[in-house]
Amino acid sequence: MTDIPRAAEVAVIGAGSVGIAVAYSLVRRHGVRDVVLVDALEPMSLTSAQSGENYRNWWPHPTMTAFTDASIDEMEAIDRESGGRLNMTRGGYALVTRRERPADLIRELERGYANSPGSIRLHESCATSYQPPLRGPWSAAPGGVDVLLERGLIRRHFPSWADDVATVIHVRRAGSISAPQLGQFMLERLRAGGARVLRARVRAIDGGAPFRLELETEEGVRQLQAGRIVDAAGPFVRDIAAMLGEDLPVRCVFQQKIAFEDRQGAVPRQMPFTIDLDPQTLAWSEEDRELLAGDPATRYLVEPLRGGVHCRPDGAPQGRWIKLGWACNDAATDPHGEPPLDPQFPDTVLRGASRLHPGLAANLGRLPRGARHYGGWYAMTDENWPLIGPLATPGAFVAGALSGFGSMAACAAGSLCAAWVQGERVPVWARALGLERHGDAALMAELVAAGRGSL
Ligand SMILES: Cc1cc2nc3c(=O)[nH]c(=O)nc-3n(C[C@H](O)[C@H](O)[C@H](O)COP(=O)(O)OP(=O)(O)OC[C@H]3O[C@@H](n4cnc5c(N)ncnc54)[C@H](O)[C@@H]3O)c2cc1C
Repeated sequence: MTDIPRAAEVAVIGAGSVGIAVAYSLVRRHGVRDVVLVDALEPMSLTSAQSGENYRNWWPHPTMTAFTDASIDEMEAIDRESGGRLNMTRGGYALVTRRERPADLIRELERGYANSPGSIRLHESCATSYQPPLRGPWSAAPGGVDVLLERGLIRRHFPSWADDVATVIHVRRAGSISAPQLGQFMLERLRAGGARVLRARVRAIDGGAPFRLELETEEGVRQLQAGRIVDAAGPFVRDIAAMLGEDLPVRCVFQQKIAFEDRQGAVPRQMPFTIDLDPQTLAWSEEDRELLAGDPATRYLVEPLRGGVHCRPDGAPQGRWIKLGWACNDAATDPHGEPPLDPQFPDTVLRGASRLHPGLAANLGRLPRGARHYGGWYAMTDENWPLIGPLATPGAFVAGALSGFGSMAACAAGSLCAAWVQGERVPVWARALGLERHGDAALMAELVAAGRGSL
């Protein structure tokens, strides 16, 4: 029998990366002892288990840059404190295009890094001080962004890529972490600080503060009274808000990845997380093209697909596994159903990635045994910014809509939400990460004009 608490100062609903980080910050930073973290499933087992585990401070808007920089600061501190438990790497993000001197992308970089003047370095000849990526300790890697504008320089450092690449934007404060280790570390610390983790589904919420949560547990239905609540329910963030009579502007879009052993060594182990920014039309035989075009369900495969197919080495430097992904789906679906894994996806992403990494084409139609195909829901707003802050109901807060960046941003999301819960000040930029930004017509127009930009 579990000892089910009847009351808590704060109940956090959802024990994914984000809810755990909120509880961790409440306990560790604010000294709140009476926190209950409620989840219907094992902690970290829903969306947070599907993450590609990449992080970067590259965003088209300085608010998101500040947000992820704050999160990376916290991850670095945890990595140090835990003796390297996060397996943090800093190979960077390489954004690749066949366009010469893409002025729009360079302008976007300048805007995103507006608060760090001098951090963008243009390399226009082979004789430059560009430091190639190494899989060494993250603390030894450079910061800022290197923009490689010379084909010979690109060839020299990235010989495995197709030779039509004209520009590489190498974001340096970027790499990978172990998201499960980050979650586990925070769970251990918050439990040691007195917080409780409860396996239960929240079915209903009555009243305002104090809230009465109706919980479905293994031992039947129970009540939990909570002074304040945090909605960190990932793809179900809307359901929890609806229990308070609120409607959140969040939709769920299913995204997929594959991972497999790169037996041909098509992807060098020191290669950064690489994103092919260019849209493309997949290469097919004439016969396949006709077949695909004839079926409305597969016609999109012969039409131009958006850029963003990405690839990186996975696991130990001496290993052989790689991960490929492509957030090429835009259609919102109901997260209550079975995950809509598309059996066509492994072939699609492999074809898309082979354009930049020609060596990968050897796997077409014969992915190695043991290959994994998985996916999860990006819970996202239209403008693809998170929702972190107060809900309309006094005493209720949200930390959600972290789309494809919730592993990298969990720490900052947790710290900001905990500050809101405790009535403490948050940085000025952080106010726009909550529902209040929807009242700022100028900002919303700017974000909509900039497009969604999810990877
Ligand atoms: C394919 C894919 C690749 C990704 N790659 C990256 C990446 O490279 N880098 C990155 O930073 N991010 C990435 N992300 C995004 C990241 O994984 C998510 O943003 C993050 O995991 C969201 O965490 P969460 O805690 O909000 O949600 P979840 O992990 O989904 O946690 C929510 C929890 O709430 C619980 N819950 C919901 N309703 C209830 C209820 N009524 N009662 C009790 N419990 C409830 C659920 O059981 C669940 O455990 C990726 C996501 C996907 C799908």
